Formats: sequence, structure tokens, C-alpha cells
Amino acid sequence: MESLKLVDPEIWSCIQREIERQEYQLELIASENLADLAIMEAEGSPLMNKYAEGYPFSRYYGGCEFMDEIERLAIERVKLLFGAEYANVQPHSGTQANMAVYFAVLNPGDTILSMNLTHGGHLSHGSVVNFSGKLYRVFHYGVSRETETIDYEEVKKLALIHKPKLIVAGASSYPRTIDFEAFSEIAKEVKAYLMADIAHIAGLIAAGIHPSPIPYADFVTSTTHKTLRGPRGGFILCKEKYGELIDKMVFPGIQGGPHMNIIAAKAVCFKKALQPEFKEYQQQIIKNAQIMAKVFKEEKFRLVTGGTDNHLILVDVSSKGLTGAQAEKLLESAGITVNKNAIPFDPLPPKITSGIRIGTPAITTRGFKEKEVEEITIWICDILKNPEKESLRKEIREKVRKLCERFPFYRR
Ligand code: PLP
Repeated sequence: MESLKLVDPEIWSCIQREIERQEYQLELIASENLADLAIMEAEGSPLMNKYAEGYPFSRYYGGCEFMDEIERLAIERVKLLFGAEYANVQPHSGTQANMAVYFAVLNPGDTILSMNLTHGGHLSHGSVVNFSGKLYRVFHYGVSRETETIDYEEVKKLALIHKPKLIVAGASSYPRTIDFEAFSEIAKEVKAYLMADIAHIAGLIAAGIHPSPIPYADFVTSTTHKTLRGPRGGFILCKEKYGELIDKMVFPGIQGGPHMNIIAAKAVCFKKALQPEFKEYQQQIIKNAQIMAKVFKEEKFRLVTGGTDNHLILVDVSSKGLTGAQAEKLLESAGITVNKNAIPFDPLPPKITSGIRIGTPAITTRGFKEKEVEEITIWICDILKNPEKESLRKEIREKVRKLCERFPFYRR
């Protein structure tokens, strides 16, 4: 980054320090990953200079010959990856993918049924502070108090009462398998559209180790940067019959020019996800999350739902007399990044919370297997059980650095 260093040393220095942070600290945020260098090369390429409003072979700008080829490759690859009839790869983010679907099939004031944010849903599923909660009448289903898993009977009951036009299935902090078929039966019964937001579990679905919503949902939305390990961005999959509606809503409905550098990076991500190694990677993500859950339980921490089927676990740290905010800070000072997270029926506010969410996608990308995950989970438990011991955190910070040195990412 020699030119950047010369032109803007302040930003250059921030980037260098962030590279150091990512290289020598443990990234356990469930929604993050470390994208391949090839993906970063595509994203940081001269494609960023090109306007390409429109769609392949039907653009509002000249000079789009290579853009057409890139976008077509991204579309074909993502369709193949998920077995979808139609794809739009232009949404700038997961939220914009969701917005495009809402705007395509709903009018302001229409009713949505989606998962409660505090039980694991996402802001863009109808939170009052988000456009989705302001424009639509939103009702939420949640998890059962006993099992902390989605209560499909409650979903059905609420659907029959509120007659939503759209049901959203998908979550940001739900450690269990989602039954898209059950959602689709409920949606059919009340004649609602079904949208599956697979942002978190897209990689697992692509690898065939989480059931796919493709046969059941009218629309599937996702991000590309979580388990899928691509650039930051979104996409929409749907049945052929909705293709034109979705395309028109993404552009010119809610976006202008597509970010062609990101679309190229998405294409690279989809290509990588089609390789056999990607399945092994996704399987290892789950093995790592499950070994982490096992150690937490042995150390007498309470886990929401008692464990995990996917890439994340939710730890109820109140069982150790801590808040999520305190746990996040304690771990951060030892070079371990997690996020505080509400647990179902959390008595504490969202900025404090009773839980932390921990995910294994990024450490699995570095090459961590069960042995390393067991080791770091013991460190995490030690820190959380001994919040007064600053020396312990210092000691573990050193161990984290050494472990990261053994599994380099940028310095390979
Ligand atoms: N949907 C779900 C389920 C998510 O977890 C997220 C992000 O965390 C999004 C949508 C939104 O993605 P973005 O941050 O790209 O808007």
C-alpha cells in the first residue's frame, strides 16, 4: 500500500493497525469472517471506477462489455451454488436485499410476521428503529421459554390471527437448525409470501449441511460476508416468475449503479464456495462450534438451547454473575473479540444484555481445529470466571498472540 501511505498516512496507519488486530487477535464475531486475498483483490480492483446501471446486456452506460461478463458469471454461479431459478447479485447489503423484497411485494401498512429481535431476529425484520418497523405492521414470533427454540405452533397461531402478507424466516443469533418447510406450510395456510433470510447460514446451506429454503421460500435473501466468506454485500434468489419484479425493485427501485468491484468479488466467492474444500470448511465450522459448546458446558456455563447445530453459540454469562457488556470488555482486553447479545427473555437492555454471541467462521478460516478451539474456550472460561484477575488476561493475551502467529492469515 505504498501509494496510500504517501497520499494519506493517517488512513494507511489505521489500516495497518487493523491488519495487526485481525492477524494477532481472535475474531469470534459470528457474523464476520476473513475473506480470501483473491476476493480482496477483485474488490480493490479498477472495476470500482465503472458505472453499469441496468443489468447484463441491458445497461444505461456504454463500456459495460466486461461488466456484463462479470455480473453474468456471478449470477450463474450463485444459481448453481444454491440450486435457484433466478438471482439478483446487486444488493449492496443484506438489509438492501430485504428492502427490495419488501418493496416488491408489500405496500406501506401491510403486515409482516418475523422473528423477535431479542430472540435472535435482525433489525431489518421489522424493528421499530428500522425502516421495516416504520413502514409495515410487524408482529413477532419468538422462541419457547422451555426449549429456547422457535415455537412453530406460536408462529402458526400468530399467522392465523394476524394474516401477514409476508412471513420472514431467518435470524442473526439463533444456534439451531431452522425448519423452512414448517414455515412454508404456515405461509401457504395463510396465503403469505415466505422470505428466508439466510445471511448467517448461507455457507452452511451452500455446502449442503443446513436444509435449504430454496424449495420452500418465494424469496431467499442473504449477505455474502458471513459464513459464505465473501465481500460485504447481499443477493436475492427467487423463482423465475418473480425475477423481473425483483430486478426492477433493486434497480431502479432502491439502488443506483451496482458496485461492480463487489459483484466481481461475489463471483469469486461463489466460485470458491462451489469447490469441494468449501464443504469441509463448513463442516469444520460446525465441529468447532460444537467443541466450544461442550467446553462451556463442562465449565458450567449455561448455553441458550443447551448447544448448537450451526456456526454460533449464545452463552448466558449471567450464570457467572456477569453482563454481556462486561464479558465483551474482559475478553477484548485479552485480544478476543465477541459481541454482547440479548438472550431470549433477557431482563437486561440491549446495550448491557445477559449474553455473548460467539461464532467460529473466522477462526476456522485461519485453520483452527478442535484442539485449538478447546484451548481458546478454556481461556475464555478462565477469564469470565476470574474477572478480577488482570494478570490472567495479560497472560492469555500473550497466548492468543502466539497461537495467531502459528495460524497466520495475512502474513502467510
Ligand atoms: N439479515 C440477517 C439475518 C443478518 O444477520 C444481517 C446482518 O447481520 C443482515 C440481514 C443485514 O446485513 P447487512 O449488515 O449487510 O445489511
